[in-house]
Amino acid sequence: MSTEPEGPSPAHLTPEEFRALGYRAIDWIADYMATVADRPVLSTVEPGEIRDGLPADPPTEPEPFDDVLADLDRVIMPGITHWQSPGFFGYFPANASGPAILGDLVSSGLGVQGMLWSTSPACTEVEQVMLDWLVRAAGLPDHFLSDGPGGGVIQDSASSASLCALVAARERAGGNELLDRLVAYVSSETHSSLEKGARVAGLRAGHLRVVPTDGEQRMDADELATMVAADQVAGLVPFFVCATAGSTSTTAFDPTEAICDVAEANDLWVHLDAAFAGSATVCPEYRWVIDGVDRVDSYCFNPHKWLLTNFDCSAFWVRDRATLLDALSILPEYLRNEASASGAVVDYRDWHVPMGRRFRSLKLWFVVRHYGIAGLQAHVRRHVAWAEWLADQVRTHPSLELAAPRTLSLVCLRHVDGDDRTRHMVDEVNRSGEAFLTHTVLDGRYVLRVAIGGTATTRSHVEELWDRLRVLADG
Ligand code: PLP
Repeated sequence: MSTEPEGPSPAHLTPEEFRALGYRAIDWIADYMATVADRPVLSTVEPGEIRDGLPADPPTEPEPFDDVLADLDRVIMPGITHWQSPGFFGYFPANASGPAILGDLVSSGLGVQGMLWSTSPACTEVEQVMLDWLVRAAGLPDHFLSDGPGGGVIQDSASSASLCALVAARERAGGNELLDRLVAYVSSETHSSLEKGARVAGLRAGHLRVVPTDGEQRMDADELATMVAADQVAGLVPFFVCATAGSTSTTAFDPTEAICDVAEANDLWVHLDAAFAGSATVCPEYRWVIDGVDRVDSYCFNPHKWLLTNFDCSAFWVRDRATLLDALSILPEYLRNEASASGAVVDYRDWHVPMGRRFRSLKLWFVVRHYGIAGLQAHVRRHVAWAEWLADQVRTHPSLELAAPRTLSLVCLRHVDGDDRTRHMVDEVNRSGEAFLTHTVLDGRYVLRVAIGGTATTRSHVEELWDRLRVLADG
């Protein structure tokens, strides 16, 4: 029998110690929530400043939890950009919420690794039911339900979802043997993750075609048809097109139905990326944003953007799960088990790149039960109404103009006197610390984006932002 190694055992917390420290950590988060509105939204540290505040070497001996909490405030917090500030209007929101945080905490407490059904049946089955709930809440087609030919899975990000769509499409088109000839189509407004996904999926350089857009940044489906035909004549194999519902720059909506017409005539896989806008479809009046979703091969939206569920939670569905599984399923001996062999269960490790997976559906379960669909609808509707109000103010201001149509809760605007004035507005707002904005460029012109969607944002925060923008535009 081997002897015990010398020295102390690891400083595991007893359940009672964990309880006591856990209360303190929760207090810390609650204090943060209570004060986040008063903190400058943007961190002002210089590059390297946070690193310099941390020792180069890890501690050899255990350190008191008090010291860790104190350093959290002293060393870490200066380097935090406050995504949960009510004044955060940059990029797209990354919603956190009380129930989601607690759901994630429980998931961490369970420490489950749900790669196979048998490694924790609840991890798989709760996820299936949550994705089915979202199908029903968002009016998605029945073939996405877990008891149909397709099904849904939680991915870490929309980027991973598009990569999985690409590899499934590659599989359907004939797999690696055709790789040299496969061609995929996006538009200039498609999220950059599609380009990354195409590289990872092994598409040849130049085989990701950029289809032109119209005056409202929507993919031109006629041009798509023309480009597909030209590629076929050249002996290439068009196999995939990504339609976007709610583009990153301006929330433009591609004509998914028309894209599906082209795709169906040419056997292209259609992936619909609604990373941000998809959350709005919990409201029946916004379901039009994904018109055509019943015809696509795969669909994704991010509850971690606008549906009160902490990162990471990207919902991804496929019409036919067999193709995805053919593309990603590999069965080493050490993962064989009776349940998988029976064919009666789903093993989610086959639905994405990593094998291991967290119990992410718990936070979604906490969120949907806490807020109810009515609460989620209210969250979205308020933001859209405030964005509508803000867009109206912009329209009536003599020095400002909308740079793109406002459809949901993103307002894109610019100063009529040119880019320098618009850039100055963004810089000044960000310098103030009270709000945070990001920009895009449209037709070569600089555009200020106001993305309304933070969990803590209220109408008065939007009004305060407008007051500041109005004064800057006049000044
Ligand atoms: N697709 C669209 C339309 C997006 O707006 C974004 C991010 O804003 C993404 C994809 C990427 O999302 P993720 O960070 O989940 O990969």
